[in-house]
Amino acid sequence: MTPPSGEQIRALPKVELHVHLEGTFRPERVAELATLVGEAPPRPVDQLFDVDNLADFLDTLDWVCGLVRDEPTAEQVAHDFAAYAHDQGILYAEVIVNPTHWSGLSTEELFSACAQGFDRAEADGLGDFRLLPSVLRQQTEQEARQLVAWIEGAALDRIVGLSIDGNEAAAGRTGPRFASAYAEAGRIGLGRTAHAGESSGAEGVRDAIELLGVSRIDHGVRCGEDPTALALVLEHDITLNVCLTSNCTLLYPNLDSHPIRDLADAGVRFTINTDDPETLGITLCGELQLAADHLGWDLGDLIAAQHRAIDAAFCSEVDKDALRRRLDQTVGT
Ligand SMILES: [Zn+2]
Repeated sequence: MTPPSGEQIRALPKVELHVHLEGTFRPERVAELATLVGEAPPRPVDQLFDVDNLADFLDTLDWVCGLVRDEPTAEQVAHDFAAYAHDQGILYAEVIVNPTHWSGLSTEELFSACAQGFDRAEADGLGDFRLLPSVLRQQTEQEARQLVAWIEGAALDRIVGLSIDGNEAAAGRTGPRFASAYAEAGRIGLGRTAHAGESSGAEGVRDAIELLGVSRIDHGVRCGEDPTALALVLEHDITLNVCLTSNCTLLYPNLDSHPIRDLADAGVRFTINTDDPETLGITLCGELQLAADHLGWDLGDLIAAQHRAIDAAFCSEVDKDALRRRLDQTVGT
């Protein structure tokens, strides 16, 4: 087995399913926006996320997103992500956007601007990027249902699914609260994913499958703590969108403590993602290299991981087939 080179990883056409737009602001853009609106950063912009607790991290995230106060700026932030993604060789990504962080824009302004930024990016040849509006775990049932109703009314082609994120440890068990909004999302044809099995344990994974009806789970890595949850993941063929460095920042002391090998051995389908590339100081190419080194993957294993990401994507079967063809053409199979 030959380990893949950095060049091979860079050249591999990639798909990413778990990345938050809120975690993609480059320091230069933050500095520019802070100057524009006349606000002083709480720390130097290249050390903004050098914080040691989740509360400070979320406050900083809200401050950064709050600098975006008009649609052209949000359009540019979305385009910035696309430029980064193109540089990483990402053909297609589904980008999580949680409107609760963006205090300067309405839901309508935020998503129409992001869609326009991704339209411009696609016209520029940077790739195909879709949107996953996200509920915050602390929100109410009514707020979640309102977001789904807004998605249905807006009918933006780039919105392909519903997500939920936030601190589950702080919010407590919220699966029952959001079951009706997720059922409605399924009824109107949205893909369904949920953060679980990270700040929540295996019980969060069970709720995501049984109450929210998801086909994917963002993180989900703690499902192995309960054989029932692991069995559900396997039975429902759930794809876990795993983020190794993010987990080793917030959850595990190091990669050797991470359960990814056990999950792989158990036959769980998973993809490799960044979560928050700029705030964590990482890239998708770097995370794929990390996964390959840790799991003993060769290039064929990396290609298989991209196929799993395509299989789990929320775009149409026609779009998935086009991605599969581009992957197969590039790797010469
Ligand atoms: Zn995430």
